[in-house]
Amino acid sequence: MPSEFNLIRQFFERPQSVRRDDVVLSIGDDCAMLTVPAGKTLVVTTDTMVENSHFYPNIAPYDLGYKAVATNLSDLAAMGAEPAWISLALTLPRADETWLSEFSRGMFELLNARQIQLIGGDTTYGAALSVTITAHGFVEKSTALCRHQAREGDEIYVSGTLGDGLAGFHLLSDLFHERKSAGDFCEEFLIRRNLHPTPRIQLGQALARYRISRCALDLSDGLVGDLGHILERSRLSAILDLDALPCSDALIRLYGREQAERLALQGGEDYELCFTLSPDKKPLLEQYAQEFDVPVTRIGRIVAANEEKPIRFRRQGKDIELQISSFEHFF
Ligand code: ADP
Ligand code: MG
Repeated sequence: MPSEFNLIRQFFERPQSVRRDDVVLSIGDDCAMLTVPAGKTLVVTTDTMVENSHFYPNIAPYDLGYKAVATNLSDLAAMGAEPAWISLALTLPRADETWLSEFSRGMFELLNARQIQLIGGDTTYGAALSVTITAHGFVEKSTALCRHQAREGDEIYVSGTLGDGLAGFHLLSDLFHERKSAGDFCEEFLIRRNLHPTPRIQLGQALARYRISRCALDLSDGLVGDLGHILERSRLSAILDLDALPCSDALIRLYGREQAERLALQGGEDYELCFTLSPDKKPLLEQYAQEFDVPVTRIGRIVAANEEKPIRFRRQGKDIELQISSFEHFF
């Protein structure tokens, strides 16, 4: 079995094609040494994925590496930050070289494409597989997209389509428990949306840099729950237009529009951005959304605080009652 040091070199140091000027010292010493550009603020986020809590044990290591990076970058995107570095804390039941090679390939696929450098980590052995990534980025302090900065009268937007992540999770669960075998292209699409979420990095940065929005988060626990965080922090309420919720063709084909809507509201693991903006910023938003080829959809608006009903739902202009519970990770 290779020594821990050789293992780190082989799978985490060598595959790195990115060498950033702001990394003074990378993997190999007690600490990394890093330079934050003048005038910028460091933005840091950590996410852990544990076997049987966040993914099924049969996940392909490539997909796990990819998703662990993508979900962390999604948090940076939701602040409007430019990603720069990550560190990786890995707990493994055993040193399996094929597994490590595939995991590392999934991670570097995204890292190398975005010029992000892996600058260190920790490798330990333990009963349950666990992946913790800390991602670092930069933002100009005054432009950061914060949850407490929604304003009454703002429009609420989301990127991409909603509900796919949760539908993909249900399908992965079926596959794992052998309730069914691999399905058609709609199912494949939804599973891929769950395993390979697209962090909306360019969009997030444009929202901040061009002062289109001041308030955003990424949808990891579902629209209703996550929008609730914005409303709580901003001490405001929202009206959501159910007809406007963007759902993928695959989701509607498999579940029908009504069930797709519920998945969109409740769904977890979409990793799309939800953000608010003043109506006069709409042309600027549309310009950048088109430039980056990211669909954005207006789904409602921010209104004065209504403590009884933080979120009200409308269909065809009429108020309707809906009970939605938020997504929680399984097991
Ligand atoms: P220490 O004993 O100081 O914690 P380690 O032996 O754990 O050092 O790690 C040696 C070097 O390898 C350090 O620079 C550390 O950041 C890096 N490293 C360890 N594990 C990983 C990993 N999974 N990915 C990237 N770098 C790692
Ligand atoms: Mg260590």
